[in-house]
Order: sequence, then C-alpha cells, then structure tokens
Amino acid sequence: MARLLVVDDDANIRFLLQEELTLAGYSVQSAADGPAGLEAAELDPPDLVILDIKMPGMGGLEVLRRLKQTRPNLPVLLFTAFGDFKDEARALGADGYLVKSFDLAALADSVRKTLAEASRRLTSPPRSA
Ligand SMILES: [Mg+2]
Repeated sequence: MARLLVVDDDANIRFLLQEELTLAGYSVQSAADGPAGLEAAELDPPDLVILDIKMPGMGGLEVLRRLKQTRPNLPVLLFTAFGDFKDEARALGADGYLVKSFDLAALADSVRKTLAEASRRLTSPPRSA
C-alpha cells in the first residue's frame, strides 16, 4: 500500500484528503505545517507528498525545496488554491501542481499517475545521454 503524506494548514483539507485517499486505497498521514511535514517525511518516509503552498511560517515552496534537497526522488504534488506558483514549483522540482477544487477525483488520479511514473523511473535503467 503506497504511503502518502499530506501537509496542509487547513484541518478541513487534511480531513477531506485523508478520507478520499484512504478510500482510494492509500495509507495517509498528515502534518499541519511545514516543519511538522519535514519531520514526518524524515521519521516515516512516505512514497509521495501532497503539499499546500500558503501556510503560516514555512511555506510549501520552501518545504518542497528542502524535501527535494534530501530526497530528490520523492514525488511531491503541490495542492493549492492559487495558480500563480506553477513555474516556481516546477523549477524546484515539483512532480505536479493541482489547483484545489471540490473534485478530489482529479487529485487521486494525479497521485496514482505520479506514483506509477516514479516507480517506472526507479525500475528503468538510466538513459544514456
Ligand atoms: Mg494553506
């Protein structure tokens, strides 16, 4: 069972994602802010992180930067109410960027595709230049 970590300061979002993604067959842990997310990712390494951007204290882009620094292969999906950080998120190595909506099926779909892509990357031999 793939393990997901949800990092979002909004308790309702954490609850909704926990429900939806557990139903979709994932094991889900969550954290309410950036530092707690980084700690959770280190103590109990997930297969994929779903990350909010606007959070008090450490924002999601900084969390993304730190996660990719220590685990470059860890897939991270940004899940945010705002579309404006797409380029910056991509530059920092985000594996996907979804604008929050009530359609959580799109998120579950993106989680599934990103995990499949990540395991394909791990199992296929490195491409020669
Ligand atoms: Mg937020």
